[in-house]
Amino acid sequence: MTATAPQPDNAILLHACCGPCSIMSMSRLRDLGLAPTLFFYNPNIHPLSEYLRRREGLLAVARRLDAPVIFADEPSLSGEFDPSGESGPRAAHPGPWLEAMAALGPGMDDMKQRCPRCYDLRFVVAARVARSRGFTQFTSTLLYSRYQNRKAILEAGARHAGPDLAFLPEDFRPGLLEGVRLSKEWGIYRQQYCGCLLSEHERYKRLLEQDVTSPAP
Ligand code: SF4
Repeated sequence: MTATAPQPDNAILLHACCGPCSIMSMSRLRDLGLAPTLFFYNPNIHPLSEYLRRREGLLAVARRLDAPVIFADEPSLSGEFDPSGESGPRAAHPGPWLEAMAALGPGMDDMKQRCPRCYDLRFVVAARVARSRGFTQFTSTLLYSRYQNRKAILEAGARHAGPDLAFLPEDFRPGLLEGVRLSKEWGIYRQQYCGCLLSEHERYKRLLEQDVTSPAP
């Protein structure tokens, strides 16, 4: 796609993983005088029903904050920014994530190997969209989480930045408690695991350690 007209100097594309993580990330960027546009591309969120809940949560936050938002899975975006066809409804398909993890073999159980690939997968598309829409900077709500690998996120951001596109290494974590409070007050869906099936397994595998076959006393 040919580049669109340049955005205002203070425009920034904010890759967003979910609603709760976006609230204070948006607030911080606005405090810095920036004008963020939310961008949702997360083929790491499984299953699709969970993806849809987080998507809905982000939409609710965008409406609350009167913020522009781009969903990579919008039918109108089919083929717009991704030559491999991962925009439009295909953007929600877990195939790219599964392929990236399959290449790791058993290493996929190691978050130090798995998560940097997951960040890359999302940032390559975020950077492509930023460039195609005329943004000169981007960042991610992943930098709001205490549980994500911040060093790997910053490295992934730097890999997909360039002379024409900066990655803003903002630390959104100071807004964590306020973000939790607001997301609860606003009734925004709050997820119980990071996103992928492996993180869901890690979250709930302890249930297998309970002897559910024992008869009730
Ligand atoms: S744990 Fe989270 S960041 Fe890591 S691979 Fe899974 S979804 Fe991606």
